[in-house]
Amino acid sequence: MIAKNKKFKKEPAKKPKAEKIKKSEDGKTTVEKNKKTWVALRGMHDILPKEEKYWKTMYNGASKLAEFFQFGRIETPLLEEASLFVRSIGKGTDVVEKEMYVFDDADGSKVCLRPEATASAMRAYVSDGLWNNPQPVKMWYWGPMFRHDRPQAGRYRQFTQVGFENIGVADPAADAELILIAYNFYKDLGLPVEIHINSIGTPEERERYKNELLNYYRTKKSYLCEECRKRMQKNPLRLLDCKEDQCQGIKEEAPQIIDWLTESSKSYFMKVLEFLDELGVPYILRPSLVRGLDYYTHTVFEIYPITGEGPAQSALGGGGRYDLLAEELGGKATPAAGMALGIDRSVLYMKEYYQQNQLRVEKEPFDIFFAQLGDRAKGRTMKLLDGLRESGIKIAFNLYKNSLKTQLDIANELKVPYALILGQKEVQEGTVIIRDMESGIQEIVDQKKIEMALKKKLKKFDEVSK
Ligand code: AMP
Repeated sequence: MIAKNKKFKKEPAKKPKAEKIKKSEDGKTTVEKNKKTWVALRGMHDILPKEEKYWKTMYNGASKLAEFFQFGRIETPLLEEASLFVRSIGKGTDVVEKEMYVFDDADGSKVCLRPEATASAMRAYVSDGLWNNPQPVKMWYWGPMFRHDRPQAGRYRQFTQVGFENIGVADPAADAELILIAYNFYKDLGLPVEIHINSIGTPEERERYKNELLNYYRTKKSYLCEECRKRMQKNPLRLLDCKEDQCQGIKEEAPQIIDWLTESSKSYFMKVLEFLDELGVPYILRPSLVRGLDYYTHTVFEIYPITGEGPAQSALGGGGRYDLLAEELGGKATPAAGMALGIDRSVLYMKEYYQQNQLRVEKEPFDIFFAQLGDRAKGRTMKLLDGLRESGIKIAFNLYKNSLKTQLDIANELKVPYALILGQKEVQEGTVIIRDMESGIQEIVDQKKIEMALKKKLKKFDEVSK
């Protein structure tokens, strides 16, 4: 028998909320059921229309860079075989151990929402026969990634990355080109960033270094944080990622991987740095930078905001060389390098930086406002607007405001030089009024000649009309 304990006193059952019975004006009764509302899952967030200007600016910037540097767009599925990521990213990594969204598919196979897209791009390179094409194959992507991480500012469970992959050449120019793209992406947005860079050499070099690192850490074991002690067992290179104060001094004194690289690996890395010097891309050599994923070889880098606090202090993006991944995924040995930039975090940085520096995302201003008066005018306005869609004239309108004054107030707020006004009379006569917003002078124009008349007036078409 369970002892009676006050603590476990049964809570009084909650009274179910009464259903509301409503009577409408026409006498009909309706029952309003108890309402449940939904919010986005923890760690997932909506990107609202007011955010669009940032996202669009970033997308356009990335897409222009991709075009200039000749990267073709690839879109891979969000869902892949889970083993693809286990194999490529590596078993001992945080992403694979803790963060993957893995499900049993209907046929019992394990599938996974992609935590990153380099493995997917390489899977496509192998399975779609892209190795048959002229090399290198340069691809870029933009899309959502999923990691079941502990959510915090700038860290989500669904986030967007833009990535660039260069598969098929082992040339330091390819590494430098990727870093230049990342750097330019932020430079074009007016955001100051710096590159942290290191080389982690080949797996053999890394293995020798790991032993040395472990020998060193063993002598310091009693001073290490709990997590670092685990890292010694599971993934010694991650010891260099530790952020705990108590481990910082030990980390700084640790042997550096660069001293364990062979001459050829060192000289490859030096060439990458020479290219960056020539390009004027600012970088910091960071011997502790190893990146979290197993597939990296040689060059690794991360991009950091130069100013800013909070979420903006963490890396905006990162990448490196992954010369062994193609073989790991069943393809021929193929050198490759790539990088990915986190868009959610970059947007946070952009907002913060723009606010601090009173910068604004410039929108293309409207050329005219199209005002309408009355039901018939509304329909005709829609038709005329549709006809002007491809004209290059940037038109503002509001079909749901019926008062002319309200519409002209909006036109004034938007600072458009001209308004078009269409009332019942103009509909009947097949005309429209063009109003100069500054002088108030109005002119009547045939509806068929609107585009021509406006292009003559608008300064931006000066060249065209000459
Ligand atoms: P990674 O390859 O893991 O270094 O990721 C590259 C970039 O993607 C990071 O620098 C972040 O900007 C972004 N990123 C990675 N994980 C998350 C996350 N959980 N939430 C938001 N952004 C992320």
